[in-house]
Formats: sequence, C-alpha cells, structure tokens
Amino acid sequence: MIVVVKIGTSSVTRESGELDDAALVKLCAEIAAARSAGHQVVLVSSGAIAAGLPALGLSRRPRDIGTLQAVAAVGQPRLMERFGALLAEHRLVPGQVLLTPFDFGHRAQYLHARETFVRLMDLGVVPIVNENDTVADDEIRYGDNDRLAALVAHLVGAELLVLLTDTTGVFTADPRVDAEASLIEEIIEVDAALEAVAGGAGTARGSGGMASKLAAAKIAAWSGVRAVIANANEPDVVIGAIADRVVGTVVQPRPQKLSSRKLWIAFARGAAGRVVVDAGARAALVDGNRSLLPAGVRSVEGDFDAGDAIEVVDDAGRVFAKGLAGIDAVTLRAVAGRRTDQLPEATPHEVVHRDDLVVLP
Ligand code: GLU
Repeated sequence: MIVVVKIGTSSVTRESGELDDAALVKLCAEIAAARSAGHQVVLVSSGAIAAGLPALGLSRRPRDIGTLQAVAAVGQPRLMERFGALLAEHRLVPGQVLLTPFDFGHRAQYLHARETFVRLMDLGVVPIVNENDTVADDEIRYGDNDRLAALVAHLVGAELLVLLTDTTGVFTADPRVDAEASLIEEIIEVDAALEAVAGGAGTARGSGGMASKLAAAKIAAWSGVRAVIANANEPDVVIGAIADRVVGTVVQPRPQKLSSRKLWIAFARGAAGRVVVDAGARAALVDGNRSLLPAGVRSVEGDFDAGDAIEVVDDAGRVFAKGLAGIDAVTLRAVAGRRTDQLPEATPHEVVHRDDLVVLP
C-alpha cells in the first residue's frame, strides 16, 4: 500500500529546539521496514527550522515569522542531507518535494504534483515533503503540515496516513490536565463533539496540537484514507499501523468517498467569501442535490470572483456546504433573492453549480 507518514516538529526536535538525531534514525528505520515489507512511503517532515538554528548560531527559536521562514530556508537542505545519509544506510534515496496547501488550489498544479509523486515512487524514491516555508507560513502559524499531509495522502492515492506526534493518540480529555483521560482507540466519524474534546494547540515547540491532527484525519476519512494518530516514539509504529494493530487512535475512512474534484473543493481551496441562504435553498442543496440559485440567497459576504471557493451558510450561521462560485460577489449582491426569470440578461443562473458543490456533514 501507499503510506503517508507525517512527523511534526515536536517529534523531530529536542527540548533545546535542535534536531533530535535519534528520532530521525528511528524514523528512517521505520520507513525502511515498511519499504522492505513492500509498501511505498511518502514522508511529510517538519524540522527545517530546527536544522537551521545551529547553522546560524541561534540558540533560541526566533519569534518573528519572517526570520523563521529564513531559518527554514537555511535548515531545509540540512534536514534533507541528514535524511539522505540515514536513508542511504538502508539503500534508499529521498527526493525533496516542497508544497503549500495553496498549491493544491490550482487544479493544473495539483495534477502535475501528482504526476511527480507517481514518477518518484516508480523510481523507488522516498518523497520527503515539507511546507515551502519561503512562500508560505501556514505550518509555522497553524501547524498545517497535518493538513498538508492529508492533502498529500489524497493526492497520491494513499491507503493510510500515519500522523506521528508526541502523545499516544486522541484522548477523551486533555491527558496533561485530566488524570481520568483515556485513549480513544477507534473513531468512526470526526464530529463536532470530538473536535471540542481535541481542543487547541499543542506543545510550545510543535504548533499543531490534536485539533489539527483531527482536521487532517477528517480530510483523510473523506478521501477514503485510514488515518492513525500515534506516538513517534512507539516501537514499530509505522509497520504496526500498516498491519492495523492498535498503535494509537485510528480514524476510519468514510464508506462513500468524495470524488477527487469535490475533495479538492472541500479541503484544498480556501474560501474567499460566503453566502447565507434560506431554508428552501438549504433543502434543495442538501436533500435535492440541486444547484444554488440567486433566489435562495439572503446575503453575500466577502469579495469573491466567479471560480473562487465560497462557503454556504444557513440562516443560523452554520456552514453546511462549500462550492465554487459561478458568479462574482458584486453581481450576486445585485440579484440576490431574485427568481431566475427575473435575472438581467447575461447574468449567470447558478450561484454554485451542483457539480461544484460539496455538502459538509
Ligand atoms: N515547516 C517548518 C519546519 O520544517 C515549520 C515547522 C515549525 O513551525 O516548527 O521547520
């Protein structure tokens, strides 16, 4: 199977902020074991900032985003050099792929990236992905390598996404403050209640935390990819996850997966605005699998163009769908609420065409 393994900053660095070489040694041995068992592995690894700190004689992680991006630029080749040396001991060759979640928003670029991954795997290479910190800082700010890893899992048609972190998995409460907290071994559906339990950000060094892991697992589930959240220190964690042994928390894939295009709309495109719709329109979209028409639109927020992704919100303020706008915000504001036969000539009839619409749970 194709396995995407993601490891975060907190698991590849020491308390001091530098790279933890023993962690990299273990990770490369895990990758080699999976490869020997006949699986393809794509690694998504942070650690560029950590690798850049000593190179620049910095003893502490700087605070401002610009410097962190610069430090990552210095550290990324060093991180790859270390992976290269360690994987060479297992006769494996890594290839660097730097991406941003934004890259997935352009369909053509997305398809090109997929071709490259396929080629790399055909050549027996271990692709190693990190966020392209020079042009994006999502991971530094939000811990978004989790989401990036989920998007990569979908992109490469992985069967399994392993999110390695510094806790055993998802707990019923925060184990750092609640002694009663117990591990959840299996999650069938990532819902709002679970997201509330997962709470906020993680440790001081990592930036993601459990909320970001669950968000990634949700993208995976919708993509038909099983996700496992587990401790990076757990022995044989990758092979264990592949064999479906309990190594942490497993998030099961949904039975009906979305088409590649709908997944892309739901998770890869950032929303440029939102439209609030009435109950009739909501029912037509959710139950009737229909397109969204200007008649059902109550109000328009943001400044989007045709082709941008927008959120569809009900009158209680809940986002229940996402789609690609067929009409720009200015034009839509002028015609919101009008029936199709009352629209000025040349006005697009669909606010969101049903083929471009994804209803969210
Ligand atoms: N992508 C960056 C890295 O590889 C950011 C991680 C972080 O915020 O520490 O280091």
